[in-house]
Amino acid sequence: MKKSLKDISVKNKIVLVRVDFNVPIKDGVISDENRINAALPTIEYLVANDAKIVLFSHLGRIKSEDDKKSKSLEPIAKALQSKIKQPLVFIPETRGKKLEDAIKSLKPKEILIFENTRFEDVINNEVVKNESKNNPELGKYWASLGDVFVNDAFGTAHRAHASNVGIATNIKESCLGFLVEREVEMLTKGVQNPEKPFVAIIGGAKVSDKIAVIDNLLTKADKIIIGGGMAYTFLKAQGHKIGKSLCEEDKLELAKNYLSRSNGKIILPIDSANAEEFADVKPTYSGVDLPDDVMGLDIGPKSVELFESVLKGAKTVAWNGPMGVFEFKNFKNGTEKVCEAIASIKGAFTLIGGGDSAAAAIQMGFQNKFTHISTGGGASLEFMEGKKLPGIECISDK
Ligand code: ADP
Ligand code: MG
Repeated sequence: MKKSLKDISVKNKIVLVRVDFNVPIKDGVISDENRINAALPTIEYLVANDAKIVLFSHLGRIKSEDDKKSKSLEPIAKALQSKIKQPLVFIPETRGKKLEDAIKSLKPKEILIFENTRFEDVINNEVVKNESKNNPELGKYWASLGDVFVNDAFGTAHRAHASNVGIATNIKESCLGFLVEREVEMLTKGVQNPEKPFVAIIGGAKVSDKIAVIDNLLTKADKIIIGGGMAYTFLKAQGHKIGKSLCEEDKLELAKNYLSRSNGKIILPIDSANAEEFADVKPTYSGVDLPDDVMGLDIGPKSVELFESVLKGAKTVAWNGPMGVFEFKNFKNGTEKVCEAIASIKGAFTLIGGGDSAAAAIQMGFQNKFTHISTGGGASLEFMEGKKLPGIECISDK
């Protein structure tokens, strides 16, 4: 068992907290504050227990100096400030005297947040990936700024970065925050020993990131529904025509391999809602073979019915990845119907992983209808695959 925040003393100590404030943001406007809200219990506990609190997070990817303009944590600091009573100071640096002095002058209950940790990935327009490659100097430096490390960022727990593993391995004491602890508890309960029947639903667009989870699901799950952009790679592997749909050619062999081992477990769409271009236009419908000049942007109505019938009676459901381009009102039907079907199963353990799936469920009003909405996409998938997560492994044991 990993140490919990309640196992350590934080009074008057400088507590370094890795949070996950990697929220969707455009022109300084945050469209989904779920991850900020999810960090509040840990922050509030630290305030109540007289810690000096230093928060930090990554936001997006930083590949050039220019990226820094749109990826500052400043708007997020403002959003956080509106949710807590305690005054919050934002320091637009990731290292240096200004940051060090500000941390030294913190009093108990005060909160400081510093700049996007991935600003350390690019220095003077040179890509150095200090943060993302866990540069040992950087982890050591950040660790030197505090007394205790709390990892409360589940979204990056599957990555060994300077801001989690780097700090944890260079500081005396570390523990999990409440958010990560709850994620581990819920995911363990839900998918490591799932009550049967266990139905997994995989969709979305990141085929290469996600396809490996099916390997483990083939032994664990009773049914694996595949929808969204992911489905077309599988349909093509079966020899169907998929037109201009999303397809990862180099995953076709893997898809064939999974299908051959499936024993009827893998359920694919039987029809498709299509468009000539990637645009929010009125769909045309086809079966599993698509005309050459269209791309599939959602599952069709017959697939919805099929998926609903597979979901009936499930005791555990894990959902990762939307069934279509739900951002387009003409192509959100599949995602909405499947979301509704999962939410209405009585007495089942229902889990959502994946930023877009979670956003879709919340947007469609199903926020409180799931047992657990994970803040981690890749992290929850790797957990389901049975992998150890470096961001959790690096934390001190009880
Ligand atoms: P999550 O964040 O839940 O893990 P992903 O990031 O893998 O999910 O995928 C989400 C994205 O997949 C959404 O932006 C959605 O528009 C897109 N998507 C879903 N179905 C399709 C499709 N058929 N073609 C193209 N994009 C799709
Ligand atoms: Mg996503």
